[in-house]
Amino acid sequence: MLITELKSKEILDSLTQGKVFIINCHGCKEVSFPEKEAEEFEKALGDKVTGILTTDYVCNIDNLPLRLEKHAAAIEAADTVLVLSCGVGVQTVAEHLPGKRVCAACDTYALPGHQGVTPLEHECDQCGQCYLNITGGTCPITACSKSLVNGQCGGAKNGMCEVDPTMECGWERIMRKLKQVDRLDVLKCPIQLRQYNK
Ligand code: SF4
Ligand code: SF4
Repeated sequence: MLITELKSKEILDSLTQGKVFIINCHGCKEVSFPEKEAEEFEKALGDKVTGILTTDYVCNIDNLPLRLEKHAAAIEAADTVLVLSCGVGVQTVAEHLPGKRVCAACDTYALPGHQGVTPLEHECDQCGQCYLNITGGTCPITACSKSLVNGQCGGAKNGMCEVDPTMECGWERIMRKLKQVDRLDVLKCPIQLRQYNK
């Protein structure tokens, strides 16, 4: 079981400066989705919204490309694709829209109990403070062996992780994606602190 909760108004305001395309995931019954708050938030955005896709299981890579394709023009017209889902959904959308700024509108928290059975391409550790907005859509908690949130440890060799040489360094992936969307500037933000008490 996990819970998704809308990020603070301050963060949402900063993510919605330009035009926005919104993706709502209503998939997993194991996920608590802030449906009412999301509806109010989206309504308040008014004509900033180029389109809305409300669907189930955005993490389903068999269906997602077709769903995105149907909204291609509205996605193209948006500066940001804002995804309201757990961290897995946001990562999946980011992978399928490589040149686009894809942001997480929610934080994902863990709750005890059944975690669902969906086969997933990406991992979310339900850390409660989603970093995907500053890492270009790659989760630093699961893609980095040390779950570093402030950049590379310096131990990577030929792009591979020093802890697990069979995997690519997660921060190499993050830097590559940020470069691709011309957003390396986001790494100039203040040091990220993890909220262990949440
Ligand atoms: S940063 Fe990673 S672990 Fe934390 S909520 Fe986002 S996807 Fe999940
Ligand atoms: S080499 Fe990269 S993935 Fe491995 S621990 Fe260091 S920063 Fe993380």
